[in-house]
Amino acid sequence: MAYQALYRVWRSQRFDDLVGQEAITKTLKNAIQQQKTSHAYLFTGPRGTGKTSAAKIFAKAINCPNSVDGEPCNECEMCRSITEGRQEDVIEIDAASNNGVEEIRFIRDRANYAPTTAEYKVYIIDEVHMLSTGAFNALLKTLEEPKEHVIFVLATTEPHKIPATIISRTQRFDFKRIDVQAIIGRMAYILEQSNQPYEEQALSVIARAAEGGMRDALSILDQAISFSNEKITLEDALAVTGSLTTEMMDNFIGACLQQNVSGALEVLENILAEGKEARRLTEDLLLYCRDLLIYQQAPKLLENRAAYLTENFKQLAETTASERLYSMIKILSETQNEIRFTNHANIYLEVATVKLATPQTTTESSTVVQSSNMETPAAIQPAEQSELLALKTQLQQLQNEMQQIKNNPTSEKEERKVAPKKTASSYRVPTERVYQVLSEATKDHLLNVKNVWEDLLMALSVTQRAMLKASEPMAAGPGLLLIAFDYEIVCQRADSSDELRLNMQNSLSMMIKDYSPDFVFITRESWPRLRQAFVSQHQDRPVAVETNDTEDEISLLPPEETNEVVEQAKSLFGDLVTIKED
Ligand SMILES: [Zn+2]
Repeated sequence: MAYQALYRVWRSQRFDDLVGQEAITKTLKNAIQQQKTSHAYLFTGPRGTGKTSAAKIFAKAINCPNSVDGEPCNECEMCRSITEGRQEDVIEIDAASNNGVEEIRFIRDRANYAPTTAEYKVYIIDEVHMLSTGAFNALLKTLEEPKEHVIFVLATTEPHKIPATIISRTQRFDFKRIDVQAIIGRMAYILEQSNQPYEEQALSVIARAAEGGMRDALSILDQAISFSNEKITLEDALAVTGSLTTEMMDNFIGACLQQNVSGALEVLENILAEGKEARRLTEDLLLYCRDLLIYQQAPKLLENRAAYLTENFKQLAETTASERLYSMIKILSETQNEIRFTNHANIYLEVATVKLATPQTTTESSTVVQSSNMETPAAIQPAEQSELLALKTQLQQLQNEMQQIKNNPTSEKEERKVAPKKTASSYRVPTERVYQVLSEATKDHLLNVKNVWEDLLMALSVTQRAMLKASEPMAAGPGLLLIAFDYEIVCQRADSSDELRLNMQNSLSMMIKDYSPDFVFITRESWPRLRQAFVSQHQDRPVAVETNDTEDEISLLPPEETNEVVEQAKSLFGDLVTIKED
């Protein structure tokens, strides 16, 4: 007989076999028993936590003529046909490969007919977040007109990508990561049933590596079995789990060190898609960078971790400057703090990836002088000389600022903020387009965009999301949306990406009815200047504009009576506008 993967052979066939989701299975069993099932369910949760298994058990239990306590019998023809996937009234669809509108229309048409052999027609749509906008709309129509004997079970690892209109029409169940003890228990049971000897510690290593996914645990267990001689030992488990992790780390850190931003983001996306948890990954990356440092200084200390020391690892250790590793460790430990309490850990990790893989130009060149001094006191640059250099730079900065103030006394604060950062800029701010946005902008449009901003980010690809994470919508009108970026290089990249524009437009039009604006990208640095220029261009008499420390606030002086500018500013910035009456 051909070898079958453990997770297939041991797939749960009853709610009571479904490990670690007791609250959910109990609720579903009760609903079936009391015949109070819903027309649509949404099963969300990390991969391998039992969503599709639960969906199939549900389809069986609700159709099984011998169902007891909400459980299927698994022996009748109905149960067997569903288990084997040949029951025509239980339709499984993988949205990852069928994301078209046509498929969903087809479902919709078919859903109009009563089930042929089963009592209930059950549609199980896996990875439902992959459906296209059009397909979601078609699905929504179907859910809006529920049919007596049709039930939809939607499963997804990414519920934030599903339109709220769909979610609100479903009964939602959040599947949790399965705890380590429950995974160990299930593996022990399976191994005992298969007469496969094992060491207890091996199971605990595998369960931890699986990070809450039963399917992953069983896949790793499969590998450990084929790796071992008869008995699964702790070493076998370490070898199998360690090599998986090490290879991912090698690739990720390697791409960062080569300053390959898109490559690094791609590796990250793969790692996260594998079900790796962001916090755990950040910690592993930190340890990896620390070990690179240790290996540089004292390779012997790492001798007992031979599996870890791949050729790639050694090469990275030999070719990377320790300063670079220190700065990576700094970025990673900052990220570790940031993601402690957030629901969007992946986003922070993506931003960290961009930072890790982006060469630090201005800031690093100034710290290089300092650090080379700290570490090698007798180096080329004597302390006095660098001090002199620093003083000269400071003096130059002060002189520049003085000059700015003299030239333009009214906007002193603002210029001071902008002047020191003014470097040779390669991104040309589209001033006319900015004015165009500002002339049509309204507060309502901006608020609408801000309301869906997080959702918009989540709807984009990992690379695009990372680009937009360090940006903010600044003004919006019916046809245009102005977005400011923290970094010029990102602004430039965003501006040249047609794909990004298209995806943003598609997602926005899905989130805000009939809204698909064109985009104007600027650097955050240029915003106060542009805003001020626009306001002073559109007024009848000179008005001083002052920018407060919180950059979003604007106050206009000295408008005794309400004038057009104030009205316009109000509609742009809403309540943030304060009119000083002194
Ligand atoms: Zn049955």
